[in-house]
Amino acid sequence: MTPVDLRSDTVTRPTPGMRQAIAAAEVGDDVLGDDPTVIRLQERAAELLGKPAALYVPSGTMANQVAIRSVCEHGDELIIDETTHAYHYETGAPAALSGVSVRIIRSPRGIFTASDVDACVRPRSAHFANSRLVIVENTNNRGGGAVWSVDQVAAVRRAADGHDLHLHLDGARLMNACTARNVKPAAYTQHVHSVSMCFSKGLGAPVGSIVAGERAFIERAHRFRKMFGGAMRQSGLLAAAALYALDHHVDRLREDHDNARHFAEAISELPGIILNPADVESNICIFRIDPALGTADEFTQRLRERGVWMFSTGADRARAVTHLDVSRQQIDQAIRVFRDVCNTSIRAAAAAS
Ligand SMILES: *Cc1c(COP(=O)(O)O)cnc(C)c1O
Repeated sequence: MTPVDLRSDTVTRPTPGMRQAIAAAEVGDDVLGDDPTVIRLQERAAELLGKPAALYVPSGTMANQVAIRSVCEHGDELIIDETTHAYHYETGAPAALSGVSVRIIRSPRGIFTASDVDACVRPRSAHFANSRLVIVENTNNRGGGAVWSVDQVAAVRRAADGHDLHLHLDGARLMNACTARNVKPAAYTQHVHSVSMCFSKGLGAPVGSIVAGERAFIERAHRFRKMFGGAMRQSGLLAAAALYALDHHVDRLREDHDNARHFAEAISELPGIILNPADVESNICIFRIDPALGTADEFTQRLRERGVWMFSTGADRARAVTHLDVSRQQIDQAIRVFRDVCNTSIRAAAAAS
């Protein structure tokens, strides 16, 4: 049986329709500024995100890092929650590439408030780093796919304005947030100075992200994209996949959310799984595993042997992510395997004690 791959929404493969769009793409040399498909994608994304300009980049990491570099000088400080990708999963790049220190907020599921920002801002003085930038991640991955409300982002923007800070939205999964809250991207992006979004996650493109903002910001981002090695040549082949994703894979995100909630409701009833299904607001389901089932690594290994793939995200935590390469039928298959593995492990633990 084909494995049910719930490791990440990055594992999606291009559909036949997307492959056709890639094959048909008109291309040029984007470093020279004449790839028509990349230009079309950037214009379309700028409009979608309600910003004057946008830049296509190879990855979400690069989108965040060119944004940080475009806004900050060496010795500046950025404010961010401890759960976030730009802090956890980008190899210390703010320090390495931009000379920026990071001030951490610890908030429930990665969603923080204006007063959290106020508390992190440093006095303007020769003694301190210059607080320069705040990053909000929506949806928040390690927070279990938690979704910010528009009001929560607006409140953080007011705090940022009060301290003259730039607000960047890491919207790798912004379309998931919009689906969950039933709002247009601009509802969120009107409150931020810049935004990044991935095509290679739930939208199902093989490669690529976008960063959007004011023209002067995008001009700087363009320069740093080149410096960081992210300028590409006939990248219209990839941009075509992103355009296809915007046309065909946005409305269907609802299915991923329904699948994640369905999965969460089923496994939350199993012995040893600790999870409130109401916390599953988008396509990410993070749950805790009672020690009676073993460590998260042991537990996910047992699932893997039965054809259900997911990552542990801590000693007693694991994560399942739904996406366009997992059907409802496969979700039900995963639930059956889960039930078996939980029941067998609990029985074994009881027999041993
Ligand atoms: C995946 C992700 C990114 C970017 O990841 P890449 O692998 O570099 O494309 C950025 N932010 C968040 C929240 C993500 O989940």
